[in-house]
Amino acid sequence: MRPTRVGVIGGGLAGVAAALALADASIDVTLLERRPHLGGLTTSIERDGLSFDNGQHVFLGCCTAYQAFIERIGATEQVYLQSRLNMPVLTPGGTVSSISRSRLPAPLHLVSSLARYRFLSIKERALLVRAVLALRRLDLSDPSLDTMTFGDWLRQHGQSQRAIDRLWNLIIQPTLNLGANQSSLALAAMVFRVGFLEQSNGADVGWSVVPLTTLHGSNALRTLHQAGAEVLLNTSASSVTPQPNGGFTVHVDGEVLAFDALIVATAPKVAETLGVLNSELHLAERLGTSPIVNIHFVLDRRVTDLAMVACLDSPIEFLFDRSDACGLASGQCLVISLSAADKYIGVGTSELAPLFFEALCELFPRARDAKLLASVVTREHAATFRASPGIETLRPSTTTPVPGLFLAGAWCNMGWPATMEGAVRSGNEAAVGVLNLLSGSGSTDALHRERAKT
Ligand SMILES: Cc1cc2nc3c(=O)[nH]c(=O)nc-3n(C[C@H](O)[C@H](O)[C@H](O)COP(=O)(O)OP(=O)(O)OC[C@H]3O[C@@H](n4cnc5c(N)ncnc54)[C@H](O)[C@@H]3O)c2cc1C
Repeated sequence: MRPTRVGVIGGGLAGVAAALALADASIDVTLLERRPHLGGLTTSIERDGLSFDNGQHVFLGCCTAYQAFIERIGATEQVYLQSRLNMPVLTPGGTVSSISRSRLPAPLHLVSSLARYRFLSIKERALLVRAVLALRRLDLSDPSLDTMTFGDWLRQHGQSQRAIDRLWNLIIQPTLNLGANQSSLALAAMVFRVGFLEQSNGADVGWSVVPLTTLHGSNALRTLHQAGAEVLLNTSASSVTPQPNGGFTVHVDGEVLAFDALIVATAPKVAETLGVLNSELHLAERLGTSPIVNIHFVLDRRVTDLAMVACLDSPIEFLFDRSDACGLASGQCLVISLSAADKYIGVGTSELAPLFFEALCELFPRARDAKLLASVVTREHAATFRASPGIETLRPSTTTPVPGLFLAGAWCNMGWPATMEGAVRSGNEAAVGVLNLLSGSGSTDALHRERAKT
């Protein structure tokens, strides 16, 4: 009896998680990745000996599958996770407030920080209670939540546009990569419930302390090899053909590879090109895209001691200190992260760099005395799908109507926004789908029987 061979196309977090779960279950698995490294949308570029991530990535305490993945690839020491949420919020002129948590259980853990939040009036702070209580009562499985925007829902629950801009959007814009006025209530409610209202450590913030290509690329490659998976880098799949008697052939650079089961873990547009999505549905186009722009500044001296800060009344949304992660020996490397960046995605570096350097100086006057050694702009046009109302009905499940064929990717319907957590969960789920199909047979027979039924 021939052992079952499973293929995974796409070595982003979803594909890596899937391949690793299969290799850990002693399945013969081959991961195909078109780039020279793993990690997909979490990547880094090198400039003059320094590493700049394509975009600042954070995870939250509630991202349990992602943290388990990090542990599995032996990278726990390469991420930092706050022991207690503390997000300073700063305006030009130096006013600081923070969104932080106390030791109390959720949702009381946020009360003292929100009660003292300086960027809302006393009345606006009191009105937060109404929206928070209503959020707790929402039934997240109710499909009608995906028919309205979070902004409209917030207004119905006493929130002014000022409160949306100065508090709610600080959370929702970076997590959904879309502002509250455009984003689906379903996803926004999920973020607040899971991150802020159900467990006290849900919104503790974490990030990588090494370049992303090290964190997810080299660590994943080493772990996959150790687990017995085959990894083919620089290998681009161009088509997938289901075979009449079961299994799939995948065309790669003039070669044909045969698999008994297949997980396609690419972006939706690529999955469409590979022929594994019904092209008449135009799913990739309907899921849409939302861009992210990051502006990295290397300065000859330190201008702030904050590791992370959210900003108001400034074009800067979030700022992170990446000095250690980028490999800087002295001075400071700061990255400005702009989500839902439709306004900036088409703007050239020569325009963005001075605009944001001036904004940096307004927030941190010490920057005026600093020498700007380098400005690097990273742009991701299709960073995530567009999390507008209706999105949840569009997102496919990891199972497909074709036996033995599974999808994975942050765009699959895992109930999570397009995040590293969603990607890892989808990969894990697709792997379980394959294992379930195989269970009991120990061979390709189960897959072939399923195929014969269709
Ligand atoms: C700038 C930026 C900032 C972000 N910030 C955050 C954040 O703070 N927190 C968070 O949780 N998430 C964040 N995200 C989202 C997160 O990065 C993604 O949701 C997640 O990495 C997607 O993983 P994936 O495996 O689903 O897809 P991808 O990473 O897109 O992986 C798909 C893989 O398939 C490969 N591939 C494509 N075509 C082929 C082919 N024909 N053959 C073989 N391989 C192929 C690609 O090269 C890629 O490696 C951010 C994304 C960006 C871009």
